[in-house]
Amino acid sequence: MRAFEATQHFFDVAAEQLGVVGEIREALLMPHREIQVQVTIERDDGRLANFVGFRVQHDNYRGPMKGGLRYHPDVDLDEVRALASLMTWKTAVVDLPYGGAKGGIGVDPAELSLREIERLTRAFVDQIHDIVGPDTDIPAPDMGTDHRVMAWFRNQWEKYHGFNPSVITGKPVEEYGAKGREEATGRGVGSLTVKLMKRLGRSPQQTNVAIQGFGNVGTHAAKFLSETQFPVIAVSDISGTYYNPSGLDIRSVLRHTLQHPRRLLEGYRECEVLPIDALLGLEEVHVLIPAALGGVITEKNVDQIHAPVIIEAANGPIHPAADKILYDRGVTVIPDILANAGGVTVSYFEWVQNRQHYRWTLDRVRQELDHTMTEAFENVWQTATQHDVSLRTAAYIIGITRVLRAAELAGFH
Ligand code: NAD
Repeated sequence: MRAFEATQHFFDVAAEQLGVVGEIREALLMPHREIQVQVTIERDDGRLANFVGFRVQHDNYRGPMKGGLRYHPDVDLDEVRALASLMTWKTAVVDLPYGGAKGGIGVDPAELSLREIERLTRAFVDQIHDIVGPDTDIPAPDMGTDHRVMAWFRNQWEKYHGFNPSVITGKPVEEYGAKGREEATGRGVGSLTVKLMKRLGRSPQQTNVAIQGFGNVGTHAAKFLSETQFPVIAVSDISGTYYNPSGLDIRSVLRHTLQHPRRLLEGYRECEVLPIDALLGLEEVHVLIPAALGGVITEKNVDQIHAPVIIEAANGPIHPAADKILYDRGVTVIPDILANAGGVTVSYFEWVQNRQHYRWTLDRVRQELDHTMTEAFENVWQTATQHDVSLRTAAYIIGITRVLRAAELAGFH
């Protein structure tokens, strides 16, 4: 099943509960605009290299569209379309005044030098600058992009349109970025885990966590959870799974990755090293956090999973067929559109600060983030209880209801 089909399936389960069918269903699902562009750069050795870039603007009923930029070899129109639609429901679940969008370039950034990535970003902006802007569509970081890419993006966009840092979020703090943006997604994942385990009556010390993916989201989730006394017993990245049944020393793991030239876990020896996919099937795990790619839990490997709780830090990690099996088995899943919404929430705070030419303290960012995530979690939990559905369907019910209401008030367009 392709990524967009999977998102559409989750949408449909909730839409059916709400009686959203026919042309209205179609109007909510259909992306407003899809752009595919050629991105050509000169390599450091003088040769040309060609890439394909995408921006999908799914929906702007609730406000300007918002969504990340992904640099990854698997990026294609189907994936970007799926991720753009997820952003629409995500911004609605946490009640931000935004619609949804997503973009990316089919490229392996590890194969390019820093200067080449800068040229790639600037060439992409040259192609799409007219369709993004602070009041229309505001990009942000995602897999394979970071604060430096955001700074180049803004600088290139401003060459056409003049000073306006709110065109993009996730910028370096010294360059109109927000304090706490980099940690926000992982922190949100961690704080939701704490809330859920409290609700389920489990103490942190007796709750073993495993995290797949040790990039921006995975590292910050691991840090937050180990600081709140959860034993993080396994983490993985493209170099393998790193496992200690009594809990990894996350500070020492983080120190190791910071010293690695590609920020990898590779070479960390203070624990057992297992194959990359072993993490999903570890028996003593109570909370599994996929924080890498989409589509990692499928009908084929779902039987290996023992964890009673899954927090979807990544976008779309569970295929619909596997999701149904997990639900029937009583596994509690916090869905991506709630679990990883901390990132877009603090992106919203950054945009607000840029527009007001005012800076918030880190404490204020963290407090407001916690407030937003708590309110969204309670809302999703209550809706799930009220409709007797999964947390995922409940989150979609909230998202669809809010978007539909905005469309009805303003008129479909
Ligand atoms: P990142 O590029 O910083 O990190 C990705 C990590 O996953 C790396 O450690 C990489 O080695 C690892 N990885 C890749 N393939 C793997 C595999 N097969 N098994 C194990 N590990 C693997 O990306 P990120 O920003 O941390 O994003 C991770 C996920 O979270 C993505 O799905 C992204 O869409 C989602 N997300 C990110 C943000 C954000 O603010 N960065 C916000 C919302 C959602």
